[in-house]
Amino acid sequence: MQIATSGLVLRTVKLGEADQILTILTPDRGVISASARGSLRLKSKLFSGCGLFCYSEFTLTTGRASNFVDAAEVKKAFHGLGRSVEGMALAAYLAEAAATLSPEPPEAAAVLRLVLNCLYMISEKRRPLPLLKSIFEMRAMSLSGYMPRILACDGCGRYDGGDFYLDPAGGTLLCASCAENARHVPNLDPGALYALRHICLAEDAKLFSFNLSEQSTRRLGKVCEQYFLANLDRGLKSLDFLHTVLP
Ligand SMILES: [Zn+2]
Repeated sequence: MQIATSGLVLRTVKLGEADQILTILTPDRGVISASARGSLRLKSKLFSGCGLFCYSEFTLTTGRASNFVDAAEVKKAFHGLGRSVEGMALAAYLAEAAATLSPEPPEAAAVLRLVLNCLYMISEKRRPLPLLKSIFEMRAMSLSGYMPRILACDGCGRYDGGDFYLDPAGGTLLCASCAENARHVPNLDPGALYALRHICLAEDAKLFSFNLSEQSTRRLGKVCEQYFLANLDRGLKSLDFLHTVLP
């Protein structure tokens, strides 16, 4: 059966001389893999649309065991990604994370939109990279049904005032005094808590529209990464490299 779908290339694995196996995030079918035969030849009509981080319109033949790319038309390429090692490393991390998360429809469409928006922001240098990383991690988790319980302190119902503690495994929030009673050290300052709520709850159009101090960004970054990895339940290879270029 032949199908048409848009999709973002999250991973390419070279096979033989000029073939590639693509991992593609699609809105209606989630993450799929497809063989793109001859796509590494410069003259191939598949060459430009099958590159890493290309958002393309694909025509695929779907079989019982595997899918084949018949055509690929580029809709959006993020040329700015290649201009910095840090940006490329973050893009690689987002791609591996999205492939591992492997969202099913209908969440797949929302996660795809999130990754595309993040790649655009990285490519155009619109926001600081550490902040984009946190936005991706927490928003992806929220979209996938793992939103932490961030509205108020789980112990006393307090909403704001001072530092808070987010349990990176369980996703519960505690105010400073409830955290102290439970022998936890607060890990979010007021700015980081505000940003965390914004990332989880803001509508799509406003997701990237907030400012955060460098210090709060660092605190938010630690918590978001811990929470993301705890809920993903496995490590990501690209994260080790990202840490070496984006401490
Ligand atoms: Zn409390």
